Amino acid sequence: MKVDVVVLGAGIVGTSIALHLQKRGRSTLLIDRRAPGEETSFGNAGLIQREGVYPYGFPHDFGALLRYALNHTIDAHYHLSALPRLAPFLFRYWMHSRPNQHEAIARLYAPLIEHCLTEHMVLAEEADATALIRHKGWIKVFRSEAIMRAEVKDAEEVNRDFGVNFEVLDPKRIAEMEPYITASLVGGLHWTDPASVSDPHALTMAYVGLFERLGGQVAMGDARTLEEASPGWRVRTEHGVVEAGTAVVALGAWADIVSKPLGYHLPLAVKRGYHMHYRPEGHAVLNHPTLDFERGYFLAPMSRGIRLTTGAEFANRDDPKTPVQLARAEPVARSLFPLGERLDPEPWMGVRPCTPDMMPIIGPAPRHKNLWFGIGHAHHGLTLGPVTGRLLAEMITGERTIVDPRPYRLDRF
Ligand SMILES: Cc1cc2nc3c(=O)[nH]c(=O)nc-3n(C[C@H](O)[C@H](O)[C@H](O)COP(=O)(O)OP(=O)(O)OC[C@H]3O[C@@H](n4cnc5c(N)ncnc54)[C@H](O)[C@@H]3O)c2cc1C
Repeated sequence: MKVDVVVLGAGIVGTSIALHLQKRGRSTLLIDRRAPGEETSFGNAGLIQREGVYPYGFPHDFGALLRYALNHTIDAHYHLSALPRLAPFLFRYWMHSRPNQHEAIARLYAPLIEHCLTEHMVLAEEADATALIRHKGWIKVFRSEAIMRAEVKDAEEVNRDFGVNFEVLDPKRIAEMEPYITASLVGGLHWTDPASVSDPHALTMAYVGLFERLGGQVAMGDARTLEEASPGWRVRTEHGVVEAGTAVVALGAWADIVSKPLGYHLPLAVKRGYHMHYRPEGHAVLNHPTLDFERGYFLAPMSRGIRLTTGAEFANRDDPKTPVQLARAEPVARSLFPLGERLDPEPWMGVRPCTPDMMPIIGPAPRHKNLWFGIGHAHHGLTLGPVTGRLLAEMITGERTIVDPRPYRLDRF
């Protein structure tokens, strides 16, 4: 079998890349070791974060660092045994998160974020999947005045510098918007521009369906079998060996399994995260995805129930699950919103693929012809999948690009 392009990894990022290439007339094969969209893209919080121009940084205030060091918080957890391996990454992440650097990164990152919702809507309309996307924004709720003031000040700066919109909520307004939230809150902040997805897996599958309708092919295969052919690339799939002129690595947290043998030592680490679904008690309804900011967990209304997602767990990618953050979050979440019984047999875990400067890697491999990367989307892979897909497809086909791709190249490291 011969195709123009083989895309390795069928998460939201690889699927979006494959779809954009197929739309441009490149015969494309999308390969995964399992069915599409079943890893990290399966279980995220579902936000298309139009407000997310500041990628999630490493905290710099002493109080937060001390809290994290004690390893008892809900929002972050670490495996002591993983720290020696993670230390170089964490140090670089911390350096890039210093206020001046973070601001400079936000300016480079904002052009990608700016297009996140419009690019999703183009694909969702073509895929007949707009019903999965709700345009209601999301809310952060606060328990103390000082924290709320600081967050509102940051939001004002984001609004001033990047034109993203928000509303400040007093407790009365929260009660109108979310009548079933019962905790004692001082107020909230409603980001009004973002959207949310009621089933992230279904959205990825809708994009896979569109890709196939346009003539794209999906196959199971192990990306580790990728090897150079002259010219191009060769990979083994369930249907036999496939030759492709171009290969794209979109393996999320598993990118190293292909990049390392080719001599690229990507500066990637992972932040693991968990979810659990709950039946709402009685007739309770959650109208907006809601972050309990000071406690550090997220509740999102999903097709399957209320999805509780957790923050960052610093651990080795392949270590067994340790859903302690979920266990800590659950009782707090129950006091915020009337959650009924658990709906999943066990907590789900996903693995966010992270770079130290918090921006994805989108662009050519520096030392191999016709090899490209679309990886490292960290907390924003759902948000940015379609933008990355378009940008990479435009670069590969030599079109004018939607944004300047230079800040996202691998050779920045
Ligand atoms: C708890 C949680 C909440 C989140 N919330 C949000 C959110 O609200 N909004 C947002 O934008 N992002 C969110 N994210 C981040 C987002 O889910 C990820 O950035 C995104 O899913 C990454 O997509 P991907 O396609 O790069 O990776 P993946 O979806 O992980 O896809 C990588 C693919 O590579 C395949 N693969 C691995 N090894 C091989 C191999 N040997 N051969 C072939 N294929 C292989 C895997 O099977 C997988 O399908 C969240 C993440 C978590 C964990």
